[in-house]
Amino acid sequence: MTDELRQKIKSLRYQGLGYKQIANTTGLSRDTIRGYCKRNGLHGIAAGLKKEYHKVMEEEFIFILCLNCGKEINQNPIGPRKKYCSMACKREWEKIHKIKYTLTCEYCGKEFKSLGTRHRKYCDHNCYTRDRFWREEDAADVAKKIIEFRKVNHLPKWLKDLLLSDPEE
Ligand SMILES: [Zn+2]
Ligand SMILES: [Zn+2]
Repeated sequence: MTDELRQKIKSLRYQGLGYKQIANTTGLSRDTIRGYCKRNGLHGIAAGLKKEYHKVMEEEFIFILCLNCGKEINQNPIGPRKKYCSMACKREWEKIHKIKYTLTCEYCGKEFKSLGTRHRKYCDHNCYTRDRFWREEDAADVAKKIIEFRKVNHLPKWLKDLLLSDPEE
């Protein structure tokens, strides 16, 4: 068995395909596939594997095989590396794996959509930078406006929380 074939079996298995389906795709017998999968810890329920190894799949096979169909990707020597063999595969993968979460930005308090993860804190990079590195400047800016009786158009969430927090806490 060639390295390429081994990789393909692994990849397809991670994507939740059964032995028979992999056999059809690779042209090897079902027994060969099953034997190989057993020896390499790729046996068990396909759906379970799919979930368990989703992360591994993404890390290990990214840029080599299409995340969606397992076909080898023709990478351009220059430009961004592709994860999918085609736009159709990209769309299909995203439809299955990427759930849109509505989250609230920790800096500006605006709602934003996050693809595939609910662990994003900020709506964009600017909010991230402001919240991490500009707290003093933001506080000074807000204080200056208050002293000058000017309208404060934007109050960062952390500052709002601070101002409105219970002093007994
Ligand atoms: Zn594909
Ligand atoms: Zn924001």
